[in-house]
Amino acid sequence: LMNLTKKLIEIRSMLLSIDQSDALKLPSIVVIGSQSSGKSSVLEAVVGHEFLPKGNNMVTRRPIELTLIHTPEAAAEYGEFPALGLGKITDFSDIQKTLTDLNLAVPASEAVSNDPIDLRIYSPHVPDLTLIDLPGYVQIASMDQPETLKEKIAQLCEKYIREPNIILAVCAADVDLANSPALRASRKVDPLGLRTIGVITKMDLVPPEQGATILAGNRYPLHLGYVGVVAKSSGKRSRRDDMALVAQKGERDYFGAHSEIFGSTTSLMVGTDTLRRRLMEVLESSMASSLHGITNAVQLELEEATYQFKVQYNDRRITAESYVAETMDALKLRFKEATSQFKRPAIRAKLKEMLDDKVMDVLEQLYWLDKRAPELGGLAQDPKVRPEDVEPYWRHKLEAASSLLTKSGVGRDSTLLVANGLRSLIDSIAAAEPFNFHPRAAERLVQFSHMILRDRIGVTSDQVENCIKPYKYEVEVEDREWESGRQSAIDLFEKEVTMCEKKLKDIRQKVGGSRRLGGLVRYVQEIEEKEKAKKTKRLMAPEDENTEEDSSIDYRYPAAQIHDARHAILYTDRLSILKLRLAALRSKRCKAGPSNDVLCPEAFLNVVADKLAYTSAMFINIELLDQFFYQFPREIDSRLLYDLDRKEIVEFARENPVVRRHLDLQERKDKLEEVMKQLNSLSTLRTDAQPAPRRH
Ligand code: GDP
Repeated sequence: LMNLTKKLIEIRSMLLSIDQSDALKLPSIVVIGSQSSGKSSVLEAVVGHEFLPKGNNMVTRRPIELTLIHTPEAAAEYGEFPALGLGKITDFSDIQKTLTDLNLAVPASEAVSNDPIDLRIYSPHVPDLTLIDLPGYVQIASMDQPETLKEKIAQLCEKYIREPNIILAVCAADVDLANSPALRASRKVDPLGLRTIGVITKMDLVPPEQGATILAGNRYPLHLGYVGVVAKSSGKRSRRDDMALVAQKGERDYFGAHSEIFGSTTSLMVGTDTLRRRLMEVLESSMASSLHGITNAVQLELEEATYQFKVQYNDRRITAESYVAETMDALKLRFKEATSQFKRPAIRAKLKEMLDDKVMDVLEQLYWLDKRAPELGGLAQDPKVRPEDVEPYWRHKLEAASSLLTKSGVGRDSTLLVANGLRSLIDSIAAAEPFNFHPRAAERLVQFSHMILRDRIGVTSDQVENCIKPYKYEVEVEDREWESGRQSAIDLFEKEVTMCEKKLKDIRQKVGGSRRLGGLVRYVQEIEEKEKAKKTKRLMAPEDENTEEDSSIDYRYPAAQIHDARHAILYTDRLSILKLRLAALRSKRCKAGPSNDVLCPEAFLNVVADKLAYTSAMFINIELLDQFFYQFPREIDSRLLYDLDRKEIVEFARENPVVRRHLDLQERKDKLEEVMKQLNSLSTLRTDAQPAPRRH
């Protein structure tokens, strides 16, 4: 018979861990009473230890779910807070301290919290019971206990005294029952008094006859009756004695002294032992009668969970570990696929693009801004000119251009270009599913890949710079190379021409047609002339600096349009020089081969850029990419999730909402199955069970 309650208490805890819905609740005993009614003293008397927080300032601020587990064989008594993982606590004053801390942790602004504290006590001296201790009802609102607090406590109690729970209404004998908030609250939810037990404390404070009248319960009849207790020690207690034990002796003494009224011949229930037995009986029969209902409810929930698991996941079971393993494999695969973007020809093309930009910059600096540029164009077109006739001026220019290009920091720039590509690849992997769900893992991923890159960048850029060194002194060009250099220079210029034409067109549209742009351009050229004249004048006669300072500039056009016009001038100039140079590149002389490098610097520089790109790509491949591709997957194994313990693996997996839902449903189904199994095994027990006899 005893086993039934014990089993059901276990099942009750499991059900609570599945969910908090009322449908899946087995009954517990809920202890309510006003402050100072003696609630704590009663609970401690039942447990046989002093363990509840003490103090005059509202010490219970959270519900305490107290589960007592009878351990007949064990010698030691101990408590456990399953949620805190503190292990077994054998010293009850430590339990008291922990409870005090947990209660005081509730912020003053909240005053009470709905979040229950789970405390289990294992002892050969306790019965199998579950009790819920709630904050005491506040009678009078005082300075530090505002009116809303009263309301909050009442609401909290109301939530717990609902069916199927049993209400333990604690009232002091020296206070009129009509004024007991506990009985008043109980009557609201249990008007017939079918699931309420009255506990009358402080029996020693009223004359025995008066106490007996209260216990007879004629005024407020309760089906489960009243039990009278004296929960406070009357005698002196030595320091070493446990207060609760001393209290029990005081109680025995008191009822013993008045046995004519409270003795076994009367039908009154008195004493902590009686109370304990009564609680066990009541809980047991209440649990037994809940059994059928709860079995049905669990069955329904289990069917639903099983159905959902089938429909949503096709019965596929997962574990946090399998998720972690899959995530790592997927990451490596994803990375491997992405590395195809870093094949050598692709890298070479990227580097060439970067070098093309550098070539354009060099050309602009050294040729296009040179007033004599058209002259060079004319030379290339003139069939009579031989390369050796060209002035040393142009030979010198070409050497300067080549060295500007080769010494522009190609090692560093090309290495950084590729390293940045890798970095943004990793960044995009880290930002995408599933790592968007795992911000800490994503950060680690980014961190260690950056670390590998940082390690390699210096070595690689030095190595590349070293290997292109010969080109800084001399570049040999073969016919085939020359021709392809010339072709790509033409392509490049054609692209540039298209770009300039498009920009001009855009500006024309923006300012409102070519006439308007023409006017603007003339105007801008005029001011520029004037400014120039003014500057010269100032240089010649610096003393009349301040005369007629701004009078020459008028503001016929808005600043934005003047800005556009300036750009238009730049693009027009650029177009004319590009067209000039395109004609040169297409000339017979340029086609003739590398001996004409001085006349066709673009073709030559293109060949140089090509060689630089080729060499850079080769060494970046060896020093940076190969190393990175080798190291990265190894770092994933050794750094990303290698040091996680079981708890962290679960946490990691649960960061992903899809996985979390899957795990939740799976776990719910498993737990329900387990509960169902246990409930079924109980049905055999139940058939033997006799209804609990009521003690009088
Ligand atoms: P709670 O606020 O409802 O938890 O009440 P306590 O258990 O802290 O008791 C309030 C006060 O009443 C304390 O000073 C107790 O010592 C005292 N007390 C509790 N039970 C009894 C009893 O049966 N007899 C007497 N005389 N005092 C009691």
